[in-house]
Amino acid sequence: MTVIRGTDVARSLGERVQKEAERLAGNGVRPCAAILRVGENPGDIAYERGAVKKLELLGIAVRLAGLPAEVSQNTFMKELENLNGDPSVHGILLLRPLPPQLDEALIAERISPCKDVDAINPDNLYKVLAGDKSGFAPCTPEAVMAILDHIGEPLQGKKVTVIGRSLVVGKPLALLALDRNATVTVCHSRTEDLAGVCREADVLLAAVGRRGLVTADHVAPGAIVVDVGINVDDAGKLCGDVDFESAAPIASYITPVPGGVGSVTTTVLADHVVRAAKLQNGL
Ligand code: NAD
Repeated sequence: MTVIRGTDVARSLGERVQKEAERLAGNGVRPCAAILRVGENPGDIAYERGAVKKLELLGIAVRLAGLPAEVSQNTFMKELENLNGDPSVHGILLLRPLPPQLDEALIAERISPCKDVDAINPDNLYKVLAGDKSGFAPCTPEAVMAILDHIGEPLQGKKVTVIGRSLVVGKPLALLALDRNATVTVCHSRTEDLAGVCREADVLLAAVGRRGLVTADHVAPGAIVVDVGINVDDAGKLCGDVDFESAAPIASYITPVPGGVGSVTTTVLADHVVRAAKLQNGL
């Protein structure tokens, strides 16, 4: 069994992104990401801190656009329109979920597709559905694909099982795997015999948000296991959906939490911002 470290996966992509950011800066364009955060959710603040660190490290400027938790839809939309219309901002990352007074679906529709670096706009999601690479795919599913590429096992013809069917992770992840000609199964909260279905998988991708959901019982000998889940254990430490201790000895490759998918996600985000800057400036 091999433990796949996210930092190893992110290294070569990060080097490419940094070179591109330098090349753009040489052409007078400093790639810039705006992070739009509503309220003071500690999880959002932690994610924002990690993203800022990675983006700046790779030569990308960051504009923090923080709004109070009680912000109105009108004020939010004005801020979004400002960012959409600002030529010095190339990518917009919206931290979600949003408070209930904000209409998330409408906001997703209004974010400019060419700045929508985490693919929440329906135009970009449709492109994921259609296998059209000209848009952006959501960063986390793309990070999972980068991990699978790093392992080097082609997905063609493989049985890939995704646990979770959210629009943010599970569904786009299933579509990206399908685009690689995998035979894809999507499990969710109503799936019967989850362990039995998962044991059929050559590649098991867990994106649920439930600590210890995936145990040795869910993993076929030699399967690849990628853990997208982010949870907190009783001691307050980060952990994934997979019970690492029991699943790791059975898997061929496995990602840890922390130190797995999350470390790749922010590098994919940086890649998207640089690509957005290139596209917006014809470079
Ligand atoms: P979500 O709550 O929107 O969706 C969870 C999915 O899990 C649902 O589709 C649900 O049907 C399924 N589910 C719930 N209980 C289940 C069960 N007992 N058996 C099988 N399926 C079950 O969550 P999300 O936004 O898709 O995120 C999933 C996890 O990934 C969370 O832990 C989140 O924190 C994490 N996440 C990680 C990253 C990263 O970069 N590593 C990014 C985004 C989300």
